[in-house]
Amino acid sequence: MRFISLGSGSSGNCYYIQSGDKAIIIDIGISIRRLKILSRQYGVNMGNVLGIFVTHDHTDHVKAVGALSQETALPVYTTESVHHGMEINRYMKKKVPREHTRTIETHTENHIGPFCITAFPVPHDSSGNNGYFIESDGTNLCLVTDAGHITPEMEPYIAKAQHLIIEANYDLAMLATGPYPAPLRRRIASDRGHMSNEDTGNAIARLALKEAKHIWLCHLSEENNNPNLALRTIKEILAAHESESSHEPITIEALPRRSPSGFYELI
Ligand SMILES: [Zn+2]
Ligand SMILES: [Zn+2]
Repeated sequence: MRFISLGSGSSGNCYYIQSGDKAIIIDIGISIRRLKILSRQYGVNMGNVLGIFVTHDHTDHVKAVGALSQETALPVYTTESVHHGMEINRYMKKKVPREHTRTIETHTENHIGPFCITAFPVPHDSSGNNGYFIESDGTNLCLVTDAGHITPEMEPYIAKAQHLIIEANYDLAMLATGPYPAPLRRRIASDRGHMSNEDTGNAIARLALKEAKHIWLCHLSEENNNPNLALRTIKEILAAHESESSHEPITIEALPRRSPSGFYELI
């Protein structure tokens, strides 16, 4: 498997995940025009995509989901509640055609081409929100974004992830002293909002030290976080747990917000 992030954060999220000559996309929160430009620039073959999976119905994740599905007849997979959320999201102008709507259940394996994809519920202030656990080529990739907190039902997926993309949205002090009005600050910090660097560091320390080889921090806030601070905070938390790791040190990096990451090979 290999993946590329084409954008990560409130300005638009999009992941392209490839196995052999097949691929899936998770979320399209960037415009379809930008998706096409970046695909050409970064060698992303849109012709081999089998389907679009959606985490949740916020615009930074679904902006062009309907547009791409209409244009290419690609099926769109997500839970019933997230499909409903997309239908009523007025910022998502083009809707998913009914014939391309695929409803999936959480905690259930979906076999699509070379992929086995399992959605699991993630708490967030949207109509619903899914993490995804993707298996192919004898390895796996787990995506957890826009997570208010880690629930017990999320834990097994994070714990068995060899490759983990997990949100580190904000730094506690930057959020507290930053430009956001108090109600928005409360929303972000709530247990249906986003994960702080500390939350993410503690989750990795508690769950991911045994299996994870490579971790990518995603959905960093532009106003309330920066990559160096997120990495420093999380590595400090992990340093205290170093002896619990069963293998080589985990590689941790932050995905760029507005630009593509380049392809990562997952082995
Ligand atoms: Zn988001
Ligand atoms: Zn969201």
